[in-house]
Amino acid sequence: MTYKSITACLLALFIYSLAWAEPLKVKKVYSGEVVKLQQGKKVKYIGIDTPGEGKFFFEECKIANRKLVAEKDITIEHDVLKEDSAGRLLGYVYVGDVFVNAQLLKNGYAIVDIVPPNKKYADLFISLQKEARKNRRGIWRFEDPNDEPYYIASKNIKKFHRPGCRIAKEISFDKRIIFRSKDEALAKGYSQDWRCNPLFRKQEEGKK
Ligand SMILES: [Zn+2]
Repeated sequence: MTYKSITACLLALFIYSLAWAEPLKVKKVYSGEVVKLQQGKKVKYIGIDTPGEGKFFFEECKIANRKLVAEKDITIEHDVLKEDSAGRLLGYVYVGDVFVNAQLLKNGYAIVDIVPPNKKYADLFISLQKEARKNRRGIWRFEDPNDEPYYIASKNIKKFHRPGCRIAKEISFDKRIIFRSKDEALAKGYSQDWRCNPLFRKQEEGKK
């Protein structure tokens, strides 16, 4: 080994140790897709969507996420956009070898939600969701077996709606996208509006 290559090696080791110096630890789990780090920042998982608080299947998704990450050291992989407007880190989260975003999709505890420019794993995520849906895992046990005549979505916000949804009616015609089936919307990486809930059967409210 030459002196130069030894220096290069040491330098590489030094940079590596800097990058991994501070393990990120999950302190609080808010939902199936948002956690808070011990270091203070919130992390929003990229490429997936889960029900908000009070909505159908919220608790199940939160518990599934908690089982994977609570009190664990995590690694975050970023995509093009590293932070959202609320200052949350946007990331693909790993606990050791476990790819958390993918694991949640695979077990039916999240819906694919591809929001450009963060679409590095779009193909993987869509295929994992397909598998979960086919095997009726997690939330997919409650899928609405019927299709509406069509679904409405916006070019800006990647969520689709039932045709009768009040919010869908507010989408201007030039921004409007029509899907003929749930399959079509899901294959394009669209998640759903959790209020009109086009993917799932009506649930009784207040279920905890
Ligand atoms: Zn809607």
